[in-house]
Amino acid sequence: MAEYHGVMIFAEITDGKLAPIFRELMGIGRKLANDLSEELSVLVAGSGVANIAAEAVSFGADKVYIADAPLLQDYRTDSYVAVIEKIVKQTNPRILLLGQTIIGRDLAPRAACRLGTAVTLDCIALEIDAPTKQLLQTKPVYGGNACAVYIMETYPQMATVRAKTMTASLPDSSHRGEIIQITTSLDGADIKTDVLQKFIQETEGIKLEDAAIVIAGGRGIGGPDGFKQLEELAKQLKGAVGASRPPCDNGWVSDTRQIGLTGKIVSPDLYIAVALSGTSQHIAGCAGAKNIIAINRDPEANIFKEARFGVVGDWKKVVPAFQAKIKELRG
Ligand SMILES: Cc1cc2nc3c(=O)[nH]c(=O)nc-3n(C[C@H](O)[C@H](O)[C@H](O)COP(=O)(O)OP(=O)(O)OC[C@H]3O[C@@H](n4cnc5c(N)ncnc54)[C@H](O)[C@@H]3O)c2cc1C
Repeated sequence: MAEYHGVMIFAEITDGKLAPIFRELMGIGRKLANDLSEELSVLVAGSGVANIAAEAVSFGADKVYIADAPLLQDYRTDSYVAVIEKIVKQTNPRILLLGQTIIGRDLAPRAACRLGTAVTLDCIALEIDAPTKQLLQTKPVYGGNACAVYIMETYPQMATVRAKTMTASLPDSSHRGEIIQITTSLDGADIKTDVLQKFIQETEGIKLEDAAIVIAGGRGIGGPDGFKQLEELAKQLKGAVGASRPPCDNGWVSDTRQIGLTGKIVSPDLYIAVALSGTSQHIAGCAGAKNIIAINRDPEANIFKEARFGVVGDWKKVVPAFQAKIKELRG
């Protein structure tokens, strides 16, 4: 059996820069590596990414494995899975961590399958069980109503990490690490997809994932005009607007606003759930919020079981009254 050693982080790159989740992965990666007294490495894949490798060192990497090839210019599942498979089989990390992002969710299960191991998605806590050196992987289950701790019998022990659940590492330009080039031997013919065009979806104001306050509207908002009112409230509170699935399916708001099992996962300080019932598929995306306030005309709506504060009433009356009160309090 191969000897497994160390913690490896997959460095996700967006728009030519390390994705925000990278710092959080390095924060937890460093802690796990210290607890194991083993090294922390980073896997960087892309085209023209030498500067990214150097930056990864400043975030605390002892080693950076870099796969730099034109075929890795855009994220494509086939090419990235092949690179992960090659580097991981060559280096045998004990633990491999990715972000619970759109790319991480696509990549991690496929890579796990290729590596003959398993992956725990959407972890909110990771620690080492000292006697066994096993990775204890905690993730929310049953729509966030409970947490389960997973242990894996196969290696590498793989997990994806939910954004904003780990303390981010800070850059230190004095940190020294080794950068190791890996030849990819990728064949374009093996990559089944091609990127034909890229679209940038402009979002006004604060990004949903970064917002400290999220105002999420549900089916009961009734149409796109209702969402305009939620946008006004979001502006007042310096927050961002999210949605349950029906408003996205109906085209009232962009799909990028969807929160839940098949949408985004957010962990704001305050989550205002307006005219949504609070199904488990929705709560899966907002269970990490520090406080939930529900506004719903049905006192039996499930969202009240999740919420810290609740207002039973028609949102068309409650939201304007709330906005007026904010204005009054701010003079
Ligand atoms: C595989 C799968 C994945 C899914 N993924 C997601 C996901 O990621 N995110 C997601 O949200 N859903 C997801 N769903 C859909 C989910 O099951 C629910 O259908 C959805 O969450 C319901 O959205 P809602 O709460 O807005 O609508 P409803 O359940 O219809 O609730 C509307 C609420 O609005 C209230 N209301 C109506 N009018 C007013 C008013 N004037 N004032 C105040 N309250 C009012 C009603 O009392 C009701 O509680 C998924 C489903 C499946 C099967």
